[in-house]
Amino acid sequence: MNQLQTMWSISRRKSLINCPREYVLRYSSNQTQYNKQNIKSNKKSLEDILVTCLREVMIERLEDQKNGIIWSKKMILLKLKMSLEFEIGKKGLAKIKASLPKFFDNLILSAKKQLELLWNTNIFRRISNSKIKRWSCLDRKKSAPNEHIDIYCSPDLVFQIQKKWNLLRIDFLGEKSNYFEDLEALAMVNWSIENGNLPDLIDKFQVHVLKFRNGKWLYQKFIPNKNLLQQSKQLLEKDVIQMNNLVEKMGPMKNLSLIPLSNNPHFCKKCSFKKSCPAKNGLEKAKNEQFLLEYNLVKERFLSN
Ligand code: SF4
Repeated sequence: MNQLQTMWSISRRKSLINCPREYVLRYSSNQTQYNKQNIKSNKKSLEDILVTCLREVMIERLEDQKNGIIWSKKMILLKLKMSLEFEIGKKGLAKIKASLPKFFDNLILSAKKQLELLWNTNIFRRISNSKIKRWSCLDRKKSAPNEHIDIYCSPDLVFQIQKKWNLLRIDFLGEKSNYFEDLEALAMVNWSIENGNLPDLIDKFQVHVLKFRNGKWLYQKFIPNKNLLQQSKQLLEKDVIQMNNLVEKMGPMKNLSLIPLSNNPHFCKKCSFKKSCPAKNGLEKAKNEQFLLEYNLVKERFLSN
């Protein structure tokens, strides 16, 4: 039976927007057992693997730094290499090395560069030189319930400056800016308030986003207010309704043929479901075929009435 969609996270929202079919394949059936094991068994693209590794190594480096252990450049490389090797797995690694011999080494080097640039941002410099003293890393897997939605939107880092709680999200993939990014970012405040570990006073929060685009870390800051937080909740509501509509469209037989495909071939290039997708032979062709199928179904229903 299809599962009721109750989980919201930025990754789920991006997937829903970028390609509904990808959302259904990746997320629609893991509503109840969202744990590490489940995620590992999900198909991950190389980009997702890279983000997982960067986040893991970032947290480990920060925690060591807190304990006075400062990593050398060699250590950063080694940690990234070990993490990537583990996540990609022996088989995947052998394939990559056989087809693109230098790819893996270049991947480690570019990940290292990304981390070094992160440590050069204002927030990370202030943490490194102890100007920001009170901070902690949070586990993104922890959810906060909000009516019937489970929000998975923990900040990566929380830090306190004077009386303000600062919530920081680190976007290693740096998705393109969109019209709703303030509301997406403010979901972190709703998460924090619902979570109960942080104050439930809106004016105590400030929201920061660091996103990596075109080789640079871009910084954004958002100040919450009651109205924006309400709009953010409505955005989540709308997304979850859309997720459930997709699952309903798929039906009990899990028929994917009418689930919309992406509108942008760029997403197909890096999609881990491409091999089994009608878009593997061209997105435009697949979309035309899907349109015809839908048209014929509507026509059949109309004639039978
Ligand atoms: S290949 Fe393209 S259309 Fe097919 S699931 Fe992936 S992103 Fe969507």
